[in-house]
Amino acid sequence: MSVEEGTKRSLLERLQDNYRLVILDDDDLREVTSFSFSLLIVYILLSSVMVLLTVMVVSFIVFTPVKRWIPGYGEIKENSEFVELTRRIDELEKQVQAHDTYTMGLKNMLKSIENAEVEQASKSPQPLKNSDVVESMKTRALDHLVFASPLSGSISAEYDPSREHLGTDIIAPKGTAVKSVMEGIVLSAEWSVESGNSVLIQHPRNIVSVYKHNSAILVKPGQKVQTGQAVAIIGNSGEMSSGPHLHFELWYDGQPVNPKNYISFN
Ligand SMILES: [Zn+2]
Repeated sequence: MSVEEGTKRSLLERLQDNYRLVILDDDDLREVTSFSFSLLIVYILLSSVMVLLTVMVVSFIVFTPVKRWIPGYGEIKENSEFVELTRRIDELEKQVQAHDTYTMGLKNMLKSIENAEVEQASKSPQPLKNSDVVESMKTRALDHLVFASPLSGSISAEYDPSREHLGTDIIAPKGTAVKSVMEGIVLSAEWSVESGNSVLIQHPRNIVSVYKHNSAILVKPGQKVQTGQAVAIIGNSGEMSSGPHLHFELWYDGQPVNPKNYISFN
């Protein structure tokens, strides 16, 4: 009967049964101390200790470098950092390369201008007197090259070195885009009192193109441009400009050449 009663009691009731732990002196069996407890209390205490321990261990792993020893955990984070660093190095390398190309173009241009000046000084005092002959000799190398037109319009002033006009002036409607005649790297893109907003582009084979009096500049120094890419918007900026037009110059090997011989502006 008592066994049946035992099985009928619920688990909670059994857990609530009180027990007493008595500690006796081994010599005279005198009671030293005693504790009264139920199994429920023991379970709650043990569970709390387990939870606390788990929380402590997890925090220890997550918030200290110990996590690096856990396979996979640290590696993922370090890998992503590594990938990010590699990407930034690639980016910096590209920037350095672009900068090198730009510096080289600038050096070449300065060198060719210097050479031209020395050449001019050592030759006759009026080297441009018979300019067409000089030009045809100097620029034979340009004949087989194909240039894009910077814009379509009507020519208002021709290239005329005797008047110190080293470019061709072309009139076009307001807002017309001025395009690069060839692929290259922007040497300078800035405003000056005399020329207004000007763009200088270094092309392969020591060719430099110049675009002056623009209303706006669309490129930055060091930037790579493609043939036909818009680099500026036509304007009337600068003291030397008397109306909306593009003053276009083409230089080869440090010498200005007549743009009309190589480029059609119609
Ligand atoms: Zn001009």
